[in-house]
Amino acid sequence: MEMNLAPEVIAQTLEATLKRLRAACRTQPHPDLQQRLDWLSRLEKITVQHGAEINQAISKDFGHRSAHETELADLSLIASSIKHTRRHLAGWMKPRRAATALQYLPAKNRLLSQPLGVVGIISPWNYPHQLALGPAIAAFAAGNRVMLKPSELTPHYSALLAKLVADYFSEDEMVVITGGADVAKAFSELRFDHLVFTGSTAVGRHVAVAAAKNLTPVTLELGGKSPAIVDVSANIKTAAASLAFGKLLNAGQTCVAPDYVLVPADKRDELVAALVAATGKMYPVLEDNPDYTAIINDHHYQRLQGLLNDAIEQGAQLLPLTSTAQSAGMTAARKQAPVLVLNPTPDMRIMQEEIFGPLLPIVTYQGNVKEAIEFINNRERPLALYWYGTDNGNHDLVLQQTVSGGVTINDCLWHLSQESQPFGGVGASGMGAYHGEWGFRALSKEKPVFYQSSLNGMHLLYPPYGKTFARMLKLLKLIG
Ligand code: NAD
Repeated sequence: MEMNLAPEVIAQTLEATLKRLRAACRTQPHPDLQQRLDWLSRLEKITVQHGAEINQAISKDFGHRSAHETELADLSLIASSIKHTRRHLAGWMKPRRAATALQYLPAKNRLLSQPLGVVGIISPWNYPHQLALGPAIAAFAAGNRVMLKPSELTPHYSALLAKLVADYFSEDEMVVITGGADVAKAFSELRFDHLVFTGSTAVGRHVAVAAAKNLTPVTLELGGKSPAIVDVSANIKTAAASLAFGKLLNAGQTCVAPDYVLVPADKRDELVAALVAATGKMYPVLEDNPDYTAIINDHHYQRLQGLLNDAIEQGAQLLPLTSTAQSAGMTAARKQAPVLVLNPTPDMRIMQEEIFGPLLPIVTYQGNVKEAIEFINNRERPLALYWYGTDNGNHDLVLQQTVSGGVTINDCLWHLSQESQPFGGVGASGMGAYHGEWGFRALSKEKPVFYQSSLNGMHLLYPPYGKTFARMLKLLKLIG
C-alpha cells in the first residue's frame, strides 16, 4: 500500500481485502487436506524456488545480512516447518476422541478442528521470512485464509514477498499488505478471526488493545530480556562458545538471543577470556566479514550507542571483543562490534531495555543459584532462559522456580526450532504459542461435539418435575 494515504482510505482498502477473504471462507468453510497441502506447497515454492532472491532482498534491507544466517534461520527453518506440517497434518485434522462420563453412555464425545476464518499476521524485520511465513503455515494448515503485514523496516523483502504471494496465491487466499506503522495500526484494528503479532512488547500492548475492541483473539509473540545462567558446575569454554554464537547470530538482533549472562563472581574472568577466544575464532575479522550481519538501520545503530554511552556514564567497563584495527570502518557499514559490558548495574538502560544487538552485559552472583533465580524473578518474565551446567539440583531449581517462554539447557536458541514443542512467551514476553501442532490448534476452533445415542434416559429429566426427576437426580449425584 502506498505511503501517506489518508487513514480512511487505508481503512477502506484493508476492509475490502478482509471482506473478500471472508467471503471466500464462507464458500469453502472447511478446506480439505488436499487444499491445505496445496497452500503449503505454494509457501514452500516461494521459500525454495525464490530462496536466492529472498536472501538478496533481506541482505539489501540490513545493509549486509549473512547469507548463511538467512539460509539457516529464515529459509531452511520455514522449509522444515512446512515438511513437518505436511507429514502430520492428516493426523491433526482427524476428529479427536474425548471420554464420555458414565451417566451419558452410550453417547460419545468428539473434538472437531474447524478453521477460524481469516487470520491476520503482523511480522517484524529481524527474521522477516521466518516470522511472516511461520504463522502463515499454521494458518493454512488449520484451513484459514491469510492477510499479512510485514515490517516496513525491510522494504525490499516485504515488496518481494508481496509480489511472490500475488504470483502464487489468488487474492481471496492470501494477501500481503505493505506500508508503515499507520497501515500496521489500521491493520490491527480489523475484525480478524485471529491475529498473530510478532514484535516488541510496547507495540504488542497497542495491538492487544486494538484487537480487544473487536474481541479478536490474539497470539502475541513479543520480546524482552532473556537471561543465560552459567552455573558453578558449567564447562565455561563450551558455555562461552554457545553464548558467543547465540549472541552474535544476526548481530544479536534475535528475539531469543541471550540478553545478559549471570555468572558466579569467581568464574567471571574465565568466562570473559573464553568469550574473547570463542568470538575471535568465529569472527577472526569483522570488517568485510560476510558472516557478520549489520544493524538494520541508523536508528537501531544509534540506540545501541546510546545503551553503551549510558553504561559508561554509570560506571560500567566495556570490553570490545575485537581489536580496534579489526573493527575499523565498521561504523560506515553499520556493523556494531561485539562488546562485553562488565559491572553493569540494574539502573543502567542496558539492564532495563531489551538489547537486540551484539552487546552482552556480564552480571555476577555469589555462586548460589537462588541469587540468580531471584535476579530473574525480580524482572519481567523472559521469552527464553538458558542454563549451562551439570548440577542436577541447581538445574531443577532453575526450571521449577523461574517462568519463561521456553528454555534451552547447555546451549541457547535451539528450543525455538523444535517443531514438536510450542513456541511462545509468557507475561510481558507474550501470550499464546505456535509452531507445529500448537500452531494448528491455536488457529483452529476446537469444537466439542456431543453425539447423543438413540438409547438414552434423558427424557426422564424432562418436566413436569416429580418423583422420577428426583430419583434420576439422586442417581446422577451418586455416579457423577
Ligand atoms: P515492532 O513492534 O516495532 O514492529 C513489529 C510490527 O508491528 C511491524 O510490522 C510494524 O509495522 C508493526 N507496527 C508498528 N506500529 C504498530 C501499531 N501501532 N499497531 C500495530 N502494528 C504496528 O518490532 P520490531 O522492531 O519489528 O521487532 C523487534 C521486536 O520483536 C523485539 O522486541 C523482538 O524481541 C521481538 N520479536 C519477537 C519474536 C518472538 O517470536 N517472540 C520474534 C522476533 C522478534
